[in-house]
Amino acid sequence: MTFQQLGIIPSILNALKKEAYTAPTPIQEQAIPPVLKKKDLLGCAQTGTGKTAAFAVPILQLLAEQGSVHPKKIRALVLTPTRELALQIQESFAAYGRFLPLKTCVIFGGVPQNPQVQQLKKGVDVLVATPGRLNDLIGQGFIKLKDVQIFVLDEADRMLDMGFIHDVKKVIEQLPKKRQTLLFSATMPKEIEELADTILHNPAKVSV
Ligand code: AMP
Repeated sequence: MTFQQLGIIPSILNALKKEAYTAPTPIQEQAIPPVLKKKDLLGCAQTGTGKTAAFAVPILQLLAEQGSVHPKKIRALVLTPTRELALQIQESFAAYGRFLPLKTCVIFGGVPQNPQVQQLKKGVDVLVATPGRLNDLIGQGFIKLKDVQIFVLDEADRMLDMGFIHDVKKVIEQLPKKRQTLLFSATMPKEIEELADTILHNPAKVSV
């Protein structure tokens, strides 16, 4: 299987070539087609499997295909539990989207918020965030989620372990009801299964 056979557009294929990704990993092979079809997704996968590209590549493609109907509004939101993961995910979006006119921004706690607010003011297509800082900035009116079409909940089980699940649910309340949702978790404890049941509609299920 190749990325081309998965229907990836040339501008992203060229970026993947630059990353020296020769073939999709199993999670990418399974996840990319349903995400491109705008289906919800439940992904059982750990970090190291190529999970980030499994969601970032098709999300970039879906946004690129819309052209500039919603210039620089947050159309995709990725929630992840830690600053390190947030930074890695944002770098991945930037790398795979290097030939696309899309802007990605990352926000997380433990650092001054002002530089992040300045970035947001310039307009963002894809926002990668940790839940606490995101809720802070929503509360202060710097972020609105009404244009989000695609929502990724990454490492859902770790969100639970780290005590972020309340913050996550608060974010979800702000999202439009009509959206595409992708949930990734390495394990499926009961609380995550229940959350998945409430936020996913007829999801494609992928597991590696
Ligand atoms: P992740 O599970 O998303 O953290 O990715 C783990 C590592 O695999 C990262 O260093 C990626 O750059 C790399 N990677 C992801 N997809 C591919 C691929 N298709 N071919 C080669 N390396 C990849």
